[in-house]
Amino acid sequence: MKHLKQLVLGVLAVCMLLALVACGNGNETPSADPSATPTEGASANPSTDIKTVQEGKLVMATNAYFPPYEYYEGGKVVGIDVEIAQAVAEKMGLTLEVEDMEFNSIIAAVQSGKADIGVAGMTVREDRLVNVDFSDSYATGYQVVIVKEDSNIATPDDLEGKKVGVQEATTGDFYITDDYGDEAVERYNKGTEAVLALSQGKIDAVVIDREPAKSFVASTPGLKILETEYTVEDYAIAISKGNTALKDKINAILKELKDDGSLQSIIDKYIKA
Ligand code: GLN
Repeated sequence: MKHLKQLVLGVLAVCMLLALVACGNGNETPSADPSATPTEGASANPSTDIKTVQEGKLVMATNAYFPPYEYYEGGKVVGIDVEIAQAVAEKMGLTLEVEDMEFNSIIAAVQSGKADIGVAGMTVREDRLVNVDFSDSYATGYQVVIVKEDSNIATPDDLEGKKVGVQEATTGDFYITDDYGDEAVERYNKGTEAVLALSQGKIDAVVIDREPAKSFVASTPGLKILETEYTVEDYAIAISKGNTALKDKINAILKELKDDGSLQSIIDKYIKA
């Protein structure tokens, strides 16, 4: 009986020891040093606490036909969004990897864990928030109307009864479909295709984001952008739903980039006032 008691006590002691060891394992980074706790400005240090899709990398899904936010230059994707993502990745101690895909696939790529972030001049919309979360906004977007120089369309209200080209599944597509119905819309895979159709007289107007519109109009003779914009919207970074660790980190870094002026200088580098 006495032996049994000793055995039980012995087993208990071993169990307690194991429990302590297990406890210690789950707590590898003791935060006795108050400077080690995540406070503002902590993003300057590489953050090992956030898991990304590929170790050591921050994978950005985009559609690289959207100048000056993302476009090809000498076989490389460059632009405002790429530089912002690059700054975010650097502050996280990660290497940025850019994945070019259809605009329509970006949300699915983030949702399914193929990419960490979607950065594509993407407008925050309620229906997108069902599938992804968005960071704080980093830029203001405008939907504008492109017409032929001699067009009788003078304001967005004149689009009634016209054929309007849009890039499929973008906000321009949603607004025109909502406002004028499916029959008013011609959908194209790329904004450039819509602009080409306009210059060939196949459609009456194109509704698209202002900065790419400027660049398309600059390279296509005979077109102009109407002065009155169609809408004003917020661009933000899409993040997998519920990944608050990554979202908080990105928001903290965006705040740093705003506060120290580097966000504005990235924008100014590509958009001349
Ligand atoms: N801002 C528009 C949207 O979010 C278009 C973005 C794009 O074509 N890259 O739908």
